Amino acid sequence: MRLRSSTLSLLITLTLACHTSAAEKLRVLIIDGQNNHKWDITTPVLKHALESSDAFTVEVSTTPPKGSATEAWRGWNPDFNGYVAIISNYNGEPWPETVRSSFDQYVKNGGGFVSIHAANNSFPEWKEYNQMIGVGGWGGRNEASGPWLYVKDGKLFRDTSKGSGGAHGPQHEFIVEIQNSEHPITKGLPKRWLHAKDELYSRLRGPAENIEILSASVSDLTAVKEPNLMVLQYGKGRVFHTTLGHADYSMLDHGFYETLQRGTEWAATGAVTATADVPVDFPTENAVSAVKLEGYPKQQPPAPKK
Ligand code: ZN
Repeated sequence: MRLRSSTLSLLITLTLACHTSAAEKLRVLIIDGQNNHKWDITTPVLKHALESSDAFTVEVSTTPPKGSATEAWRGWNPDFNGYVAIISNYNGEPWPETVRSSFDQYVKNGGGFVSIHAANNSFPEWKEYNQMIGVGGWGGRNEASGPWLYVKDGKLFRDTSKGSGGAHGPQHEFIVEIQNSEHPITKGLPKRWLHAKDELYSRLRGPAENIEILSASVSDLTAVKEPNLMVLQYGKGRVFHTTLGHADYSMLDHGFYETLQRGTEWAATGAVTATADVPVDFPTENAVSAVKLEGYPKQQPPAPKK
């Protein structure tokens, strides 16, 4: 039978449509519910950042609020294995032992994990979690947590001297400088780009094993390059760690969007294909490139001190 060209084009259209069907998208889960940051405002931005790439379907699991009874925590037990990556927008009370154990097994067995900003402040006492994130800040972290990791003169330093882990100065726009342009997450991105107003996390400390720094920024506090995009291996699992994203206006940045999309795809699959195109509106060294999102930003940066 000969196919008429209109039938043929319909078939082609259907075939193409199937390639972007929900079934083929990467199913990921954002965890929030407690944070010293406005998680209820920033989770929708993270969701939009991922979904706008067309590569992900995003679900959210919200923990019980701070101070909840054990009974409420018993009802929170996400099925991590139903997702190719877990994204943490959480900084709060310890998860129940059963959840910690299933999360540890999930990543160890090859699940993807993405740590956003203050998620690396969380769980200072949870050994496995600190191995996953590599470095973290606050929560009593100090030299006992591990070395302070930074870049100076193009070299990676592991500073074991005494001192607390985690610091930042006033929020400002800063240059993110790629340290490895060959990694799938950073390949093809401008070597230096201006990031929206954010906290520049400094003096992060931790076990820092199986870690690679993909980008760093010169800190006004320490005068060295502090890591902001990192990748780690934990068992068979891959971890993408971004220290960026203090507020909605920090996240609404094409640089943040693109690196989150790529980092999440890489954590999920080990490759970056669906999100590899560099957007034309990616920031330059001289100009921040803001993402427009209806109703946002809801937060305002603090006024500079006089
Ligand atoms: Zn912050």
